[in-house]
Amino acid sequence: MRKQIVAANWKMNLTLDEGAELVNEIFKGLPVLSEEKQVVIAPPYLHITQTAAQLTGIIDVHLGAQNCHHEASGAYTGEVSAAMLKSAEVEYVIIGHSERREYFKEDNAMIAKKVNQALINGLKVIFCCGEPLEIRDAGTQNAYVEKQIREGIFHLSEIQLNEVVIAYEPIWAIGTGRTATSAQAQDMHAHIRSVVAAKYEHEAGDNMTILYGGSCKPSNAAELFACPDVDGGLIGGASLKATEFLGIVEAMAFA
Ligand code: PEP
Repeated sequence: MRKQIVAANWKMNLTLDEGAELVNEIFKGLPVLSEEKQVVIAPPYLHITQTAAQLTGIIDVHLGAQNCHHEASGAYTGEVSAAMLKSAEVEYVIIGHSERREYFKEDNAMIAKKVNQALINGLKVIFCCGEPLEIRDAGTQNAYVEKQIREGIFHLSEIQLNEVVIAYEPIWAIGTGRTATSAQAQDMHAHIRSVVAAKYEHEAGDNMTILYGGSCKPSNAAELFACPDVDGGLIGGASLKATEFLGIVEAMAFA
């Protein structure tokens, strides 16, 4: 059975105290999750050791990071390597988020290098893909997302691919309040699964966890997660409030 995940991407939000408080609030309301369901929290780098300490002994909640550098180490002032993340008990790293692609000019080649760094260092990858509005309006979103996936992760072996989760995040839905309909999400997730199945074994497509991201909230999570190819969500804005985030986790718990 493939994994289901609800992952929190805090982005550049929350002080250390606010982050600690949010994690405590999440713990208080966390529903019991079956074995194949997980929560991931990806705070800013500065929070990671604090959040790691809070997560000690908590089975259902896993630690993530929002990025890593594409080189192993060296003179890259202000950057953080995959090895550093691993040494701080990080398990997942988000790579290729549309905000990194747009504001930090990360292209598919750089993203592929980051994926390699993450995997070499024993991290699992949450690989983000998704089209801008003009591509959706032109109806060419399937080809656009397929190219991101081909150039970002299709150099991996099937064994390496087991350590990758894909997050489909249409850019026009991120932080806009405009969610993809469940039909739009299902269509794209089914497409992604078929692309993975065609490149690797059929089983690799079946086993791939594919998350939806883009204005996911408690009011739409249950409908999205009920889609057969949607295995949970990557959550931005709604992950900053415990009640909202827990509402989405509940939707996964009952999906
Ligand atoms: C995201 O940035 O990964 C995201 C899904 O953001 P939001 O939930 O705020 O749309």
